[in-house]
Amino acid sequence: MAYTVRKLDDYAPAALDAAVHDLLSAVGQEAGSVAGENDWKLFRDRWMARKNGILTQVNDLWLKAAPGPAKREVGARVNQLKTEVERAVDAAQQRISSSGSKSRLDSERLDITLPGIRRPLGAEHPVLRTMSEIVQVFRAMGYSVADGPEIETDYLNFEALNFPPNHPARDTQDTIFVAGQERKPQRDRLLLRTHTSPVQIRAMMATPPPIRVVVPGKVHRADTADATHSPIFHQVEGLAVDTNITFCDLKGTLDHAMKAFFGSNVKTRFFPSFFPFTEPSADVSVTCFKCGGKGCRLCKMSGWIELLGCGMVDPNVFQFVKSNGYDSRKISGFAFGMGVERIAMLKYGIDDIQLFYQGDVRFLEQFN
Ligand SMILES: [Zn+2]
Repeated sequence: MAYTVRKLDDYAPAALDAAVHDLLSAVGQEAGSVAGENDWKLFRDRWMARKNGILTQVNDLWLKAAPGPAKREVGARVNQLKTEVERAVDAAQQRISSSGSKSRLDSERLDITLPGIRRPLGAEHPVLRTMSEIVQVFRAMGYSVADGPEIETDYLNFEALNFPPNHPARDTQDTIFVAGQERKPQRDRLLLRTHTSPVQIRAMMATPPPIRVVVPGKVHRADTADATHSPIFHQVEGLAVDTNITFCDLKGTLDHAMKAFFGSNVKTRFFPSFFPFTEPSADVSVTCFKCGGKGCRLCKMSGWIELLGCGMVDPNVFQFVKSNGYDSRKISGFAFGMGVERIAMLKYGIDDIQLFYQGDVRFLEQFN
């Protein structure tokens, strides 16, 4: 039976003590059965609510109703009851909140003997890895590294490299132009650079001769993607200018670089070629590093693989940077360039260039 407050009819001290005892044992019992936050709120309100809480009823039915001579005795006991009830309510709250945090501790227990989460290490992308390996070969020969913007002016991408406006050589590089520039003079129009060569001009504008730079970077052409073409790919380009630089220096440098990159028994071969910014120009082949020159599918049975283009810097190019000390009567130089994807495909035996750009971890994790 839940405790209810009844009017007192006997104000003798022994009868008052008995009433107090009944009430305290009731509050103790109810406090003991409080099991959670909601329980506790109901318990608190039942005993302590201003309006109709048990303590309020005790005040009304015991103290206010007591006859004058008994008020002192009753009042002392009512005060004692208030203190005891408040203490019981506080104690119940303490008990449920500490048991709550204990169960939380239990549920969040950390088993430090469980194995940890192993995070797989990433690997350098094969294109970037190949590019930095090539750069490293030339750095070891004393070349510094330069780079430049991918959005370039027509002037630096073509004109200063001896591709005059309307020159047919421009057609060999399908160019992506930035839209809405019809009002600008042609040389100021912006495009996505079709090769890293404009950085050669930028380097010569920034540094008087002698200069030796290698330029790794991303280039863009309006090519349809297929197994050997991508509208975005990477090149490494090099430039050396000094007094008395000859074609022999070019041959020796590239022969050494290819041996450093592919192995010391690789041979190189130079064929006449054409590039607007070099004269004479050459294509360079290396002996097939798969069959060693005997002939296989990779080299199409020829024993040779065509890898890069090069040549002596055309004196017309020096005209554009003459004011910075590039006087073609006093200095000469050579330049070379290669496609990074092509070299990576040959080196790792990859037959589809698109694999480089698809981000498929099953492909990429082979290069760990
Ligand atoms: Zn071969």
